Amino acid sequence: MRLRNIPGAEEDMQKNPFVVKAPEEKKGQWREFFGNDRPLSLEIGCGKGRFLSELSIRNPQVNFIGIEKFSSVLLRALEKRAELPCENLYYLRFDAEGIESCFAPSEVSRIYLNFSDPWPKARHHKRRLTSREFLSRYEKILAPEGVVEFKTDNVKLFDFSLEEAEESGWEILAATRDLHRDPVMREGNIMTEYEEKFSLLGNRICKLVMRPGRKLKGEPKE
Ligand code: SAM
Repeated sequence: MRLRNIPGAEEDMQKNPFVVKAPEEKKGQWREFFGNDRPLSLEIGCGKGRFLSELSIRNPQVNFIGIEKFSSVLLRALEKRAELPCENLYYLRFDAEGIESCFAPSEVSRIYLNFSDPWPKARHHKRRLTSREFLSRYEKILAPEGVVEFKTDNVKLFDFSLEEAEESGWEILAATRDLHRDPVMREGNIMTEYEEKFSLLGNRICKLVMRPGRKLKGEPKE
C-alpha cells in the first residue's frame, strides 16, 4: 500500500512523539524505552494501524511496535494513535529488511504479518515478508517461545509461506484457510483494513501461526 505522496509527510512523522527516531540505538534496550519488562510484539507492514490500535488497547500487559516503510501510510496510523489513551504502542518508519539492526536476539515475543504485499514476480519473492530470508531474520530476534502470526486472502502467498516455513524448519502451530468460519482461530480476531476490504469481496481469509524449529544444543545449523 502506498498512498499518494503527501507533502511534508516525512517532516510531520519526524516530529510525532509516537514515532521512534534512530531505532537502531534502541536495539537490546526496548525494555528501558518502555520502562517495563513486558513482552514486545511487532506488526510488520502495519499500514494504517487499525489492527495495532485495537490490539494495544486489548492488551495493556504487552508492548507493541508497528513497522511501516512508507511515511504517507504511517501518518494514517499516527492519526489513530493520537486518539488512544494507551502507553504501550509506538511506530517505526523503517524497511523490515534491516530488522535485525533494531532488535537484539530474543528481544521480540511475537510478530504479526497482516496482508503482506504479495510480490508476484519470482525474482521478487525474497521481498515477501514470509520468505525464507525474512524467516531467518525473525528467527534471530524472536524469544525461545516466540511466534509469527500471518494472515492473508492470497492463497498462492499462503501456500508459498507454508513451503518457506517447512523449508526453514519452522513448526506450524495452527493454520486455517477460512479464518472467519474457524470456531477456534477466529476467537478474538481483529480485522485489519485489508481484511475487511477483501472479506467484503467474498475472499476467504487464511491464517497461520508458526515458530522457528527447535534445534538441540550443539546440533549444527543447516
Ligand atoms: N497490515 C495492513 C492491513 O492488513 O490492512 C496493511 C497491508 S498492506 C497490503 C502491506 C503494508 O506493508 C504496506 O503498507 C507496505 O508499505 C508495508 N510493507 C511492505 N513491505 C514492508 C517492509 N519490508 N517493511 C515495512 N513495511 C512494509
